[in-house]
Order: sequence, then structure tokens, then C-alpha cells
Amino acid sequence: MQRENELRANTLIRSERADALVADFSDRFHEVATVEAEGGKATLISRYGRADLVAKGDEISVAVSAKDQIDLCYIKMVVAEYFSTAVGSDAVHWSGDGEAGSSLPPFFREMRVVSAENVTPQMRRLRLSGNELHHFAADGLHVRLLFPPKGSMPVWPTLGADGRVAWPGGADRLVSRVYTIRSRDAERGEIEIDFALHEHDECGSPGATFAEQAQPGDLVGLFAPAGGEIPRAQSLVLCGDDTALPAIARILEEIPPLVRARLFVEIDNPDCRYELPGGDNIELTYLYRHGRPAGTTGLLSEALSRLDVDSLGEDTYFWAGCEFGDFVELRKLARRNWKLPRERHLVVAFWRRGFAEGQAAA
Ligand SMILES: Cc1cc2nc3c(=O)[nH]c(=O)nc-3n(C[C@H](O)[C@H](O)[C@H](O)COP(=O)(O)OP(=O)(O)OC[C@H]3O[C@@H](n4cnc5c(N)ncnc54)[C@H](O)[C@@H]3O)c2cc1C
Repeated sequence: MQRENELRANTLIRSERADALVADFSDRFHEVATVEAEGGKATLISRYGRADLVAKGDEISVAVSAKDQIDLCYIKMVVAEYFSTAVGSDAVHWSGDGEAGSSLPPFFREMRVVSAENVTPQMRRLRLSGNELHHFAADGLHVRLLFPPKGSMPVWPTLGADGRVAWPGGADRLVSRVYTIRSRDAERGEIEIDFALHEHDECGSPGATFAEQAQPGDLVGLFAPAGGEIPRAQSLVLCGDDTALPAIARILEEIPPLVRARLFVEIDNPDCRYELPGGDNIELTYLYRHGRPAGTTGLLSEALSRLDVDSLGEDTYFWAGCEFGDFVELRKLARRNWKLPRERHLVVAFWRRGFAEGQAAA
């Protein structure tokens, strides 16, 4: 059912595998959206909007709808990315609402560094300013930061006619990493991002390097929102390493005081303790690495596996953000041992030891 004021767009994709592609599309997204699929038809509903796919003969008609330009753009991009890979780079041509063709994407902002300070010995906070941040401030925990090559004026990505992002190449190539908005002030046009500082070689780790070297006036691109919701439940179990601290702080700030939260946080040592909202409803356990490399200790899964499952109660949500090895163990714990249904947990690998972000995803 279409709602009034919704934005809509359509595309027709030609493929001899139309039925199989609709089924594969449904499988691909069922972890991150509500997907209903039957007999060559699929409907995907996510926080950004809706996509209806119908396979008929050797054609797939796709109709997308969303409440605003940014969300519509995201839905179009997801569809375009999938079918460009599955069918070919020229597969998708949108008609209907939404901008396309060599404009900056509506979910992009150029941000300028205002200040940089260490909030713990291993966490550096950058304050960034930019224009028209209202949408970004309202929606989602995470953003994707785009780092330009050092010392050159950035060339920012544009939106291709098929709805995909067109990235600058060669000397203008950008690298991107996902971070969490620690705080935001849309009226002032500012956000703060906390970067975990970690060991790296001279030319690696664009995220940590940018944070270490940032000077007022430096430019960085921002795509937002990039996912992340505040879990809604009567009781929360939240856990993570340094990289998850900004998200955990945001969650604690936004939950009602009656919600009980148990936290398990892995950091290097007591000097690295990070300012987290407190209260009678919040129970915090720090786990210290004491010099052992992050992502090698297994401290989180060890502590969580000692948790009394029966004390979790029916309305408990389990949330974790951590290194890939910890993610594997914690997800196993949540699904196999605790038998938590999908809607009651989210375990995310925020990084992977030995792999830069793009490599980790690949
Ligand atoms: C949803 C989400 C939200 C996130 N929010 C935040 C946030 O608010 N703050 C934050 O600091 N990070 C956050 N991260 C994690 C961050 O994106 C990764 O740590 C990213 O790899 C950092 O990029 P980089 O350029 O510094 O290192 P990369 O170039 O990606 O990696 C280079 C090397 O450094 C290692 N490495 C990367 N991160 C770490 C680390 N934390 N500790 C030790 N070694 C590391 C890698 O294993 C690799 O060997 C988030 C990730 C996700 C998915």
C-alpha cells in the first residue's frame, strides 16, 4: 500500500534468470530487512523504505518507495548495486522520483574538522562541522567517512544515472571507513566522532591516521545514515571493544531509565576507561587486555558465556560490536547457546584483525 507524499521510482530489468534473481535477492537481504517472497515476487521492507519485485518472463519490474529523497536514494542504490553485479553494469535505469546523474548524493556532506582531542589514551575525538545536518542528526548511529588523499583538494563522489555512487578514481581515489556519531548538534551543524587509535604501519589505516593527524580545517566526506538503531527492550546486554564504545554510549543516552542495561566492555587498561552514561539501571563490567593486542584475548566471549541465561528474561536484547573473531564467538553464543531469535540480538564485526576494512568485507 503506497502512502501519500511517498517518493516512488521504477525500473525494468531484463534477464533470462528473472525468477532465480528475485529469489536470490530475497535471500541476500533477509538478514537486514523484512522480506516476503513467493513465486517470482518479493517485497523488501527496511527502515529506508520498500522495494517490490515481480518477475515475469525475462523481465523483473522493480518499484521502490520511501519517505524522502535520502531514503529513496538508498533503496535505489541497493537495488542497482545488486542487479549491476548480477546482470550487468547497464542493467538499471530509473524513472520516477529522485535525483540522478552527476549531482552529489543527498546522503553526502562535506565536513570540516573543528577540533581534535584525546578523550582517553587510545581514543581521539574529532569535532566536525557541516551544513544541513538535520536528517543525519535524527537517523541512525553510524556514518561512513570518506578520506581524501593527503594534501590534495578532495573530489567527492556523485550519483550515477542508475542510482549507484560514482567514485573518483586515480589520484583522487577516496578511502572510506564506518564510524559512529558520538554526539550531534544539528543547530550548530556539528557532530563528534571518537576514533579508536590503534597500531598501524605508515601508510595503512586511513581512519586512525586521519584522527591522529587531523588539523582544524581538514576536510572529510560523510555518507549518512549508515545503519544502526537503538535497541528497544526492557533489558539490554551490551558488549564490545573500544570501537563499540561510542555506540554503547549513544544507546545508553537514549534508553529510558527503567530499562536495565548490563555492559561488558573490553579496553586495554583502567586509564582507557571511557565516559559512559551511568545510573542505577546500568551495570558495567570492564575487561582489561593489559597490553595484549585487541581482538586476540577472547575476553568478551569468556565473560558473556558466564552470564546466567535464565536471568536474561523474555524481553532482553543482546547487542555486540567487536573484532571478527569475537563476533563469531558471540554470535554463536547468542544463537546456539542462548537461542535468541533474530529480533532479539545484533552482533556485528566492527573490524577484523589483519584486514583493512575493504579486505575484511571481501
Ligand atoms: C557499524 C560500525 C561502527 C563503527 N564505529 C566506530 C567508532 O565509532 N569508532 C572507531 O574507532 N571505530 C569504529 N568502527 C570500526 C572501524 O570502522 C574499524 O576499526 C576500521 O577498520 C578502522 O579503520 P582504519 O583505517 O583505522 O584501519 P583499517 O585500514 O581498516 O585496518 C588496518 C589494520 O588495522 C587493524 N585495525 C583496524 N581497527 C582496529 C582496532 N580498532 N584495533 C586494532 N587494530 C585495528 C586491522 O585489523 C588491519 O590490520 C565501526 C565499525 C562499524 C562496522
